[in-house]
Amino acid sequence: MLLINHVLSGALIGALARRPLTAFAAGVASHFVLDAVPHWGDWGSRRRFLQVAVPDGLVSLAVMGAFAAASPADRRLAVLAGMTGAALPDADKPANLWFGCSPFPAAVDRFHMGIQREAWHRGYVELLAAGLLSAAALTALGRSRRGSGGGGGRGRLPR
Ligand SMILES: [Zn+2]
Repeated sequence: MLLINHVLSGALIGALARRPLTAFAAGVASHFVLDAVPHWGDWGSRRRFLQVAVPDGLVSLAVMGAFAAASPADRRLAVLAGMTGAALPDADKPANLWFGCSPFPAAVDRFHMGIQREAWHRGYVELLAAGLLSAAALTALGRSRRGSGGGGGRGRLPR
């Protein structure tokens, strides 16, 4: 799946999970769940893959920054951890491109490749996922913002 959808699901997880370590672990797990959903891909050529992957990576970085900035201070680390965990398994793509090898054990790469069901006509899956995940992440963040507002965080235990 596109990196942007992994980042959005990681933001949602971080907004809900509160604890950075939980958010990170759940984020990594969410990556494989999303990748197992039949999605867009089967690029045919490296050039076409890069035409999608490069803008996807850049937009994802910008969205990570925006979500981190928009998060209430007491959720920021969890949101960042969720997004990082959710994006991490795809670190094999830039690593392969730049260094010619994956940073992960071969078994992880085999599993990651094995669950992909990609088809060129499934761009709508990515759009649908982006719509749903961004709405859910923004709602969850809005709720956590209201929850941590008011008394300026007074009466809440630090996490
Ligand atoms: Zn992946």
